[in-house]
Amino acid sequence: MSAGGPPTLEALVDRLGQLPGIGRRSAERLAFWLLRASSDDALGLAEAIRAVKEDLVSCRVCGHLGESDLCAICSDPRRDAGVILVVEEIKDLVRFESAGLHQGVYHVLGGAMDPLSGVGPEHLGVDGLIRRCRDAACNLREEPVREVVLGLNPTLDGDTTALHLANQIEPFDIRVTRLARGLPSGGTLEQASVSVLADAMDDRRPLGGETP
Ligand SMILES: [Zn+2]
Repeated sequence: MSAGGPPTLEALVDRLGQLPGIGRRSAERLAFWLLRASSDDALGLAEAIRAVKEDLVSCRVCGHLGESDLCAICSDPRRDAGVILVVEEIKDLVRFESAGLHQGVYHVLGGAMDPLSGVGPEHLGVDGLIRRCRDAACNLREEPVREVVLGLNPTLDGDTTALHLANQIEPFDIRVTRLARGLPSGGTLEQASVSVLADAMDDRRPLGGETP
């Protein structure tokens, strides 16, 4: 589309072009698809976007998103509340869930420590995790935590965060493990295949006593 298109259409192309992985050409294609689509389809998309922004709330236990202050995982009585898989982002949780790799519960940190950019534990959901470890009353069915699995990205920031968490959890009688090192170093969980993730989960190792 030339820059001389109707401003309303141009505004849509601009918005679509802000999406990750969408360049100008793709944004134009999507905009024209939406123009031709039925009102139901196009407005259904708009409604889905509105709903994720306005109707989802953060789970008070784990930081995942849900439609009430307790997410679907935390409110599922079949989940083992004694095993917490710690992840950096909700997208990592979704990855583990869609592959069916974890029967316990989660804790979403909201990122990883990045000392060079000034991101410390106080900017992440670390306090909430430590509270869950210290006080069983913070957990579902007041279940004491038996194991914390550190499912962080195999990056420098992920490793820094893992060591910090392991030190914080050390005073409690809790097994701390981390995903096995089958994951490509410096990569992210997002890039790992389901089979690599499954192996990393099965072969998880205790963190205590490991030489850095
Ligand atoms: Zn939750």
